[in-house]
Amino acid sequence: MSRIAIVSAMAQELHGLQHGLSGARCVQRAGREFWTGRLGAHDAVLVLSRIGKVAAATTVTLLLAEFGVERVLFTGVAGGLGPARVGDIVVADALLQHDMDASPLFPRHEVPLYGLSHFEADAALSAEVRAAATSVLAHLQRAHLDDFGVRDPQLRRGLILSGDRFVSSAGESRRLQAYFPDALAVEMEGAAVAQVCHDFGVPFAVLRTVSDRADDAAHVDFKRFIAEVASGYTRAIVTALLAQPRRA
Ligand code: SAH
Repeated sequence: MSRIAIVSAMAQELHGLQHGLSGARCVQRAGREFWTGRLGAHDAVLVLSRIGKVAAATTVTLLLAEFGVERVLFTGVAGGLGPARVGDIVVADALLQHDMDASPLFPRHEVPLYGLSHFEADAALSAEVRAAATSVLAHLQRAHLDDFGVRDPQLRRGLILSGDRFVSSAGESRRLQAYFPDALAVEMEGAAVAQVCHDFGVPFAVLRTVSDRADDAAHVDFKRFIAEVASGYTRAIVTALLAQPRRA
């Protein structure tokens, strides 16, 4: 049976998912805990990615090399860009490292020797994730979202930017937006996961809940938002995604 990995950026998200894991076993590698078991109708591995591109790349490399994983779903929070508001869900179509710059040897943002700046997410898995997210948003309990000013959360799909910086100033956010007018979110791991999955030829998807607007207020209530909103979204979406066995 094909095995899916759920890689979470945040411990609270991982803990939410672990409750649903049956027959759980923990394997330690490189200071990380990989939790194997059954989640819904699927064989799964859950792991905390850790924060930043290198940490996420190490985690995903181990998953792909040692745990026989055939699909990867990354979940976490991100700063919203353009139309993406706090509480929205963004599913990546493509990911790009906004802090990659080997110019003038290579075009800015191109990953050297790949000839690529954008790494595309798997279309089929991303479509399944969007379908699960649509059903979760349709049945959402909205009352507790008011606290965070979330009124009518939207599902969005498009470009996600990654870099080793927590973007927390309106100036930096504007600069990113000017460079990448299509970008919907900025975070710190997704494009690294994309590059590793590209190397191994393994399909992946990236699911992000917008936790802040990547501006001067980006740190406000971050932990509470993750505990009370993002972890709930992730758990509900992953549960919906894995409820049915995979169609052949
Ligand atoms: N305070 C947190 C650290 C969060 S680091 C803690 O104690 O655990 C930021 C995490 O959220 C990263 O996983 C990153 O991918 C994501 N993120 C959310 N908003 C972001 C932003 N504005 N810029 C960059 N990454 C962001």
